[in-house]
Amino acid sequence: MTTTKSHTSVWNNCLKIIKDNVSSQNFKTWFEPIKAVKLDAIVLTIEVPSQFFYEWLEEHYIDLLRKTVRHELGKEARLEYSIVMEDTFNNAKPYTINIPGKQNNDLKNPAVSMPIGSSPAIRNPFIIPGLRKINVESNLNSNYSFDHFVEGDCNRLARSAGYAVANKPGGTSFNPLLIYGGSGLGKTHLAHAIGIEVKNKAPGKTVLYVACDKFITQFTESVRNNNQNDFVHFYQMIDVLIIDDIHYLAGKEKTQDVFFAIFNHLHQNGKQLVLTSDKAPVDLQGIEQRLLSRFKWGLSADLQMPDLETRMAILRKRMYIDGIVLPDEIAEYIAYSITNNIRELEGALISILAQASMNKKAITLELAKQMIDKFVKNTTHEVSIDYIQKVVCDYFNLGIDVLKSKTRKREVVQARQIAMYFAKAMTKSSLSTIGMHCGGKDHATVLHACRTVNNLMDTDKKFKANVTDLQKKINIHSK
Ligand code: ADP
Ligand code: MG
Repeated sequence: MTTTKSHTSVWNNCLKIIKDNVSSQNFKTWFEPIKAVKLDAIVLTIEVPSQFFYEWLEEHYIDLLRKTVRHELGKEARLEYSIVMEDTFNNAKPYTINIPGKQNNDLKNPAVSMPIGSSPAIRNPFIIPGLRKINVESNLNSNYSFDHFVEGDCNRLARSAGYAVANKPGGTSFNPLLIYGGSGLGKTHLAHAIGIEVKNKAPGKTVLYVACDKFITQFTESVRNNNQNDFVHFYQMIDVLIIDDIHYLAGKEKTQDVFFAIFNHLHQNGKQLVLTSDKAPVDLQGIEQRLLSRFKWGLSADLQMPDLETRMAILRKRMYIDGIVLPDEIAEYIAYSITNNIRELEGALISILAQASMNKKAITLELAKQMIDKFVKNTTHEVSIDYIQKVVCDYFNLGIDVLKSKTRKREVVQARQIAMYFAKAMTKSSLSTIGMHCGGKDHATVLHACRTVNNLMDTDKKFKANVTDLQKKINIHSK
């Protein structure tokens, strides 16, 4: 029974689950500083270091927290926060305020006291029969505007296509507009920016942003509640429909069917579709061909890793927006160290601030280095995937474009697998990032490549000699 559990043991169990679901950097920054302070039957109270910290958790980890606490304490479980206030009078003890839990489903502020059970997140949003237009809550986050989106080589096409679409929804050849790219590269931000811009320019348009997993849940619930038609009608009256992360549709045939119907209706009526995905349409597995071919009617634009200059510009903008003042050398250090994920770039900035404010230390380059080095060892010297590919291609006398192509020629496949193997061994990139760099392969392909290379090294002397040789070359050049 829950009453026999202690707050510490419950929270420790939660932490175990959380640890498996977030990067170690994020775990250190956002979860280690949390203290469990009270357990009252099914209400767990945790103490967080600041208001800012609480808001960050709410914005980024609400789902994870909800799931884990529910896992530990059952469906009705609730989470309450208490915030340690900054100690402004030197040695007075920090004090704690309790954010009181609310009983009802407060959708705007679910974290404050989440009714963790009974999937409260989705209200039936569907149209009331007979009404043509209703006021649809667009679900747009005003922080994710074009103003806040830094333009760079990495996103120029996607950004300008997005901007064009926002100014003439349904009226450009970019319909649908599919924005794709790896995690943390700005897909969600850009998707919101389009919606916000439409609302600014044409307030009368019905804009809806929906995360694909929510779309799927809504559909499943509509089937259960036997109001599938309402679901379809609701979506068919949107002027600008933005669905984020459509790769979640993979394998969901029923939802794909219904999305297909919605897509056709909107497209035929000159309505705009904006979609995002973590892969290019050709690499989206588990999605019906007829949908994929429709994606090609419009424009697919990718978001790439930002270069150093863009990373600096993003940090500067972030600091400007949040009113943060940091010495240039520190921002530069962050931008140099964290190269392939804008979310992590911002996370590093925030965690340096959080550390500094928690320990009441001034932010120095030394502190920044300590923080970042803890998380991203040797990043400034880390070989890049591009670099590994170049060395491997030179070695086997292949063009980079061939390596990144879809060709199944044996020698190319092998070179590609070796490049993946080194990328896994020598960089901190995730399997899917590596796959993306090697011609849009998925993480399973990369994993398979690493295993194949390991096996061949055990069994094939010549192969092993090649790999060892290559390893030396990569090492030399990366010094
Ligand atoms: P994705 O959806 O691709 O995983 P997000 O859109 O959530 O990535 O972006 C991650 C973070 O990086 C967000 O805080 C976002 O505001 C920020 N970001 C991404 N691209 C840019 C950009 N070009 N300029 C400013 N901030 C950006
Ligand atoms: Mg996203």
